[in-house]
Amino acid sequence: MTGIVQTAIGQTVVVVMSALVVAASTGSAGAQQDNAAKATDLAPVPVCSNNKGEPVQFSMTDRGRPGLAAGMAIRDGSGKPVVLRFNFASAPREFQQFIDRHECAHHQTGDVDRPVPPRNGPEYLRNESISDCVAIRRLRDEEGFNNKAFEKVTATLRTDMAKIGFPDSSIASRILNISGCFKNPASAGDLIRRVLQERGLPVQ
Ligand SMILES: [Zn+2]
Repeated sequence: MTGIVQTAIGQTVVVVMSALVVAASTGSAGAQQDNAAKATDLAPVPVCSNNKGEPVQFSMTDRGRPGLAAGMAIRDGSGKPVVLRFNFASAPREFQQFIDRHECAHHQTGDVDRPVPPRNGPEYLRNESISDCVAIRRLRDEEGFNNKAFEKVTATLRTDMAKIGFPDSSIASRILNISGCFKNPASAGDLIRRVLQERGLPVQ
């Protein structure tokens, strides 16, 4: 995501932050019930394998900023490619789906096994744009996302990025990219193949 990168154990770690809908005013019993209800609304994980054909596992975690949904694409301690889903219950389902596919794209394009580009530098921003593009096209082509679902994704993104403190220009350019990708009939696979070719990586 634009501007949000954490580095852990020397791996590329890319995070998409999401807004939260917090029931902070409810009592503890009520909050637990809310959480339980929302947990059943978690989006099913997408099919995902990396550019080497290794299957990517998804796992839930409550680590990270409470109430803020985010994703992270890394190799775990044993070297397996994983996507971590932080606080997903706090995000709208459409945005959960977007985060999953954005993080999967970092595996599909080989980002996770490449050196971490400087934060907010051109290479970093391009990687984020590519992952956004792959994600929204998969949602369009595989999940049947219409304009309404698209708007849910971008509205959540706008709210969350503003909450985190991104300038309007960053938010606008990110959403413009996602919108252009959504309208362009090319597929996610087309873009992934092009990126792998540019990087000299084998195309599956
Ligand atoms: Zn990312």
